[in-house]
Amino acid sequence: MKRYLKFWGTRGSCSVCGPQFSHFGGNTVCLEVQYDDTLIIIDAGTGIRPLGHTIHNKKKIDLFLGHTHWDHIIGFPFFEPLYKKNTEINIWAPQGKGRSCKELFTEMLSKEFFPIHLEQLQARLEFKTIYEKTPIQIGPITLDFHATSHPGVTYCFKIKTPNETISYVTDNEIPKTPQKSLIEFHKGADILIHEAQYSAKEYTEKGGWGHSPLEEVITLVNEIQPKRWIVTHHDPNHTDAELFDLEKHARSQKLPCPVEWIADGCTIPLK
Ligand SMILES: [Zn+2]
Ligand SMILES: [Zn+2]
Repeated sequence: MKRYLKFWGTRGSCSVCGPQFSHFGGNTVCLEVQYDDTLIIIDAGTGIRPLGHTIHNKKKIDLFLGHTHWDHIIGFPFFEPLYKKNTEINIWAPQGKGRSCKELFTEMLSKEFFPIHLEQLQARLEFKTIYEKTPIQIGPITLDFHATSHPGVTYCFKIKTPNETISYVTDNEIPKTPQKSLIEFHKGADILIHEAQYSAKEYTEKGGWGHSPLEEVITLVNEIQPKRWIVTHHDPNHTDAELFDLEKHARSQKLPCPVEWIADGCTIPLK
């Protein structure tokens, strides 16, 4: 049976390329959750393009978006299953304060931006709304959602398989008052995936941009007490060498579990 997480994109904010990024890669965020015959995709950053090439004869795909900032949706028009008949794609997203996800995607695929209109896609699309702490069952997987501290309405995910709990938090600027509810929500996760986009020095200039400095995330991880911590949504300015330095620094601190900075194309087996 195929059971794994695959990180098709691990970059936040903007895609990058060049030899200085060759280890971690430059695709923006996209996570594949494969559990036997159930396929769940979270985020449609540029990483969803290569993922699309590996999907054949799949009748139903569930794509989840925690919010609609560019780095989480920019790969969507290049997702090959959109151009296949007999494919049903459910797009799950929160209702933001302004336009709906369907309205935004209709505009993204308007003729000034893209040659193919949303209505012309071959796959059958269904736009659905997710709500905080209102779980959804997809086959054997339960997904639940919690708001994060980030500009606009943004959710993070708790993905429960029959054997494990995976928390996925790509965009969270940890506030001064503790995120008690969020900590409780993710408490004891088997795998916690949480960004750590800035160093303390960078954060002095980038506070309020919606992302956290590493030291604050270390404090949060010690409160959540996961069994494993994976860092994704890397800053586009960080080269491989700088990301390895951040990983080394995190490993020198008191942590409840092992930590790793994840790269594009990495697979984590699930039980
Ligand atoms: Zn992001
Ligand atoms: Zn964002």
